[in-house]
Amino acid sequence: MGEPVIELRQITKNFGGVKALRGVDLTLYRGEVCCLIGENGSGKSTLIKIISGIHEPDSGEIIIDGFNYKRLYPLDSLKKGIEVIYQDFSLFPNLTVAENLAINELLLSNNLLVKWKDVFEIANKALDNINIYIDPKRLANDLSVAERQLVAIARAVLRNTRLIIMDEPTTALTQKEIDRLMKVISTLKNKGTSILFVSHKLDEVLQIADRIVILRNGEKVFDGKAESIDRATIVRYMIGRELSHQLSLHKEEKKDVQVVLKVEHLTRKGNFYDISFELKRGEILGITGLLGSGRTALALSLFGALPPDSGTIYVEGKQVTLNSIQDAIKHGIGYLPEDRVGEGLFISQSIGKNIVVRVINYMVKKIGLIDQFRVNDTIQTWLKQLKIVTPSANLPVSSLSGGNQQRVVLAKWLASNPKILILNGPTVGVDVGSKMEIHKLIRDLAAQGMAFIVISDDIPELLEISHRILLMKKGRIVGEFLREMLTESKLNAMLTAI
Ligand code: ADP
Ligand code: MG
Repeated sequence: MGEPVIELRQITKNFGGVKALRGVDLTLYRGEVCCLIGENGSGKSTLIKIISGIHEPDSGEIIIDGFNYKRLYPLDSLKKGIEVIYQDFSLFPNLTVAENLAINELLLSNNLLVKWKDVFEIANKALDNINIYIDPKRLANDLSVAERQLVAIARAVLRNTRLIIMDEPTTALTQKEIDRLMKVISTLKNKGTSILFVSHKLDEVLQIADRIVILRNGEKVFDGKAESIDRATIVRYMIGRELSHQLSLHKEEKKDVQVVLKVEHLTRKGNFYDISFELKRGEILGITGLLGSGRTALALSLFGALPPDSGTIYVEGKQVTLNSIQDAIKHGIGYLPEDRVGEGLFISQSIGKNIVVRVINYMVKKIGLIDQFRVNDTIQTWLKQLKIVTPSANLPVSSLSGGNQQRVVLAKWLASNPKILILNGPTVGVDVGSKMEIHKLIRDLAAQGMAFIVISDDIPELLEISHRILLMKKGRIVGEFLREMLTESKLNAMLTAI
């Protein structure tokens, strides 16, 4: 292990009443990749901002080269060889790659006649240093996020940076770009640079970490060699609790209940394979999996929007073909999409029209006129039932908050009284209060017999409302669990471990 580049001792930082950091110690060493992980809000970014001099700690000290500081300022931090690679703000957009790389030299030299040959030489050397080729003549503005990051890293290396900090650097990158970044990181490490890599993606952390530091709720709860910890333990440290068991819901047996939907060996090549499961009346079936697990494609197939290649679907015991959305609706299947604004709502139409759009056909009187009384009655019923807050149902849906828009999509489907309702990310972008009410509504409707498939990334949400949870990976069901068998940390661990 190399010598320490920076040492933080007992750093605390409060924002008003929020204790973002509570006495954190952290030492970073030369030639080491240290991965800082923790759930959202655990204090990772705050810690970085203290190292880079943006925040002043409330207490604690920072030691660099034997000197103690109460705080750093951004320029100190740079001068001490510490650099944060930001995704977007690191480069001058209107300068070329070469100028960005040589900017220090350009600024320092008093020579007004810039020697372009030198500029390109500096740039090429910088890119060579990290084994990357990007045309130095390109404008920074024209580069992809990944390329900008690499140029920023190359420049940091030119400045003899001792510590490079990356805060969630892979968020906007493709897998190929991530692989390239990982290679650059090991090149830097071999040159003796210290790297602080912040991420909550365990896959990449385990791939590159020499050391892992875990924050939870502003405290350091683990600091040790990467080999000394496994995935499940990491997750346990990050989450640090078993989900409290306030929810004793859904204990009731579902044994002799009618199966409303049965799926056998359903396959759609490239999306999902050999999917089989049953859904009973009044049951809420959760489906989760990482992005790309095939869960949305499966939902769309069950809604007739993406016909499967093979397999069988039964609704209430009868085999059905779902080749179109109309087929699905005819069989009593509804679908609430992930992107409600794009797919779920006629956003500029009134709230009322959106609620009755599915059922308006049934409200036509014999002579072909719409039964306005029934329409209004239906709208009012659902506004009340779903507690949609609006001065008038004639206002456009776009006037509503996210939570209320989501309730309108739900109302639209509920008004048509489906047997099976598939909800994809039912509370994404919805405030906490609305979320609880939507959950309660789903449970109440299930209690009355409606069957639900809920697709979600939100583990606490699935645990809160599902009777049963299917876990998907790479297009296949890899696990099926009764709610009672699961805790949040168990499910998280399985999600990342599979
Ligand atoms: P992470 O990066 O791990 O997601 P952060 O360091 O951003 O966590 O946040 C830690 C806690 O401090 C959170 O509760 C967050 O809401 C709070 N926090 C962070 N920055 C600020 C700020 N500038 N003002 C108020 N609260 C903040
Ligand atoms: Mg953060």
